[in-house]
Amino acid sequence: MNENRRIKREKKTIKAMISIYCSHHHGMTDKLCLACDELRQYSWKRLDKCLYGPDKPQCSSCPVHCYKPAMQQRVKTVMSYAGPKMVFRHPVLAMLHLVYGFKKDETVKAVSQ
Ligand SMILES: [Zn+2]
Repeated sequence: MNENRRIKREKKTIKAMISIYCSHHHGMTDKLCLACDELRQYSWKRLDKCLYGPDKPQCSSCPVHCYKPAMQQRVKTVMSYAGPKMVFRHPVLAMLHLVYGFKKDETVKAVSQ
């Protein structure tokens, strides 16, 4: 499956969020700690395997919960912590996240097609 721009952007977003979380909670500055890197790898793998491919909806509004419950919990923790901070550190990425995250109607349409 070709890696499309949307998936690339989601990878960038999730990595940026995990970085914020890790630096604030685990004191890492230039890279992720082992546990956070594991989470990053896991979420990237989920994106690679996403069954929607190029038509992928935003993960947060996706009807298929492909994360293992434990990993989903960790990602949720990271996102709820780093999400609001993204606006300051990564304005563009944060904007995209918000824009794509709340287009619920379009997501439903894309899935039912
Ligand atoms: Zn960490």
